[in-house]
Formats: sequence, C-alpha cells, structure tokens
Amino acid sequence: MGTVFLAVGAALAMIKNRADQKIDASIQPYVEKNAERLLQVESELLDVPYTCTPIFSFEVVSTTGPSASGPAGQYVGETQTLHLLPSKLAPSNTGWVGQLERAVEVRTDADRVIAHEFGHHLIDQWSRVQGRGMWPCVDEEDKITSRIGLYMINEGLAKYAQCTAIDGKSVLPANVDLSAMYNQVVDGVFPLLRLLVYEGGFQLVQPVLDQHGKRGIEFLLEHPPSDTDMFDLGAYQSGVLGALETTR
Ligand SMILES: [Zn+2]
Repeated sequence: MGTVFLAVGAALAMIKNRADQKIDASIQPYVEKNAERLLQVESELLDVPYTCTPIFSFEVVSTTGPSASGPAGQYVGETQTLHLLPSKLAPSNTGWVGQLERAVEVRTDADRVIAHEFGHHLIDQWSRVQGRGMWPCVDEEDKITSRIGLYMINEGLAKYAQCTAIDGKSVLPANVDLSAMYNQVVDGVFPLLRLLVYEGGFQLVQPVLDQHGKRGIEFLLEHPPSDTDMFDLGAYQSGVLGALETTR
C-alpha cells in the first residue's frame, strides 16, 4: 500500500515540477508583454511621465537582486534594474497551479509585484528628470531609526502606485496611530517594521497623492519625515497637506 502512495506522490511531484518550470519560463515573456501597458497606466495614475522601461533581470540568484530566499521583486536604483525571481511569481493568466500557489502564497501574483516595482522605477526616473538624481538616496551609515521616514515615503509611493493600478487598500485600519507603531519599533518590536514601512507608508502618502498628485509627490521627495516628525506622523501629514494647500 505504501508503495502506491509513494508512486502517487512521485507522480504528483513530477507534474508539479513540470508546471513550475512552465510558470518560470513564462514569466519573462509575460512581464515584457505587459510592461508597457502597466507603466502607462501607473504613469497616468501618478501623473508623472515615464521616460524609459527598466532593465529586467530574471536571474534566480544575484548579488544585487533577490536571492532564492529574498523578495519576489526588487528595483535597484543604482543600476536602474528590476530584478524578478521567477520561482516566486505566477503570471496572472496561469491555470490552476498558479491560482493554487497564489492562494497558499507559495508564489505572488506577478502583476502585483511588477506594479509595485514599477512604482519605484517611475518615481526614481522622475526624480532624475527633475535634476534631483536617484531616489531614494539612502545613507546606509545612518541609524535604522533615522532611515524609517525615508523608507516609509519610498515604499508608500510604490504601494500607492501598486494599489491604484491593481488592487485595493491598506491592511491597516484607517485611524491607526503610525507614531505609536514607530515607538514600538524603536523599543525593539522589529516585526512591526515591515508593516509600518509598507502599509504605514501607504497611509501616510495616500491623502497627499489623492489631493495633490504630482505636486504632492514632489513635496514628499523634498521633505520626508525628519527624526522628530516620526514621533508625530499625524502632525507631519497635516503639515504637508497644509503647505500644499497654501501654495496651490
Ligand atoms: Zn518596494
């Protein structure tokens, strides 16, 4: 009886392996086919022009991009390259294997990852066109706590592009106290960091972009939250909105 189970298991593993290879091989043409359309949509939503498509890299392991244990996608400003990890992505048009893998989060929906990374690319390109150079320009020597504000703006803008182009909303409740979350991170509750930077960043930038579009983005790039602002992000957000309102 055990032999039958082993044989069935081996057959299923073989089918799964074939399906994996098929999905991996289909990522590159899928991305290249959809890049132009998605960049156009996001460029209009963000109200910033796009000047060039990023360089794509589909290497499984890279020193500058994602490794097998790294994220499914990563935009690297220094080389203006969008690294994508085929083994972690399922094109949105795949059949039942892709759907199942997305449902149990073995793979991420490719459109969602690409849309997020395109957000980074568009903002970086726009910053360069404006003469500001690469954005964000992070000083890795700085303490992590003083970099969190910049990370929140950076990831918030990419998440805004992703959410407006593809799907929904923040998983955080609308009235969450972001500075309380920041204080917890400072106190060593590091598992909250990702939630604060991505979801909190999205909440921080959302009303600014909804109300002021490109002007809002420009202001946020020039005035990310300072160390002091981090302790009252509600006041920081109101200050940004107030400054943009008076100079309208
Ligand atoms: Zn990101």
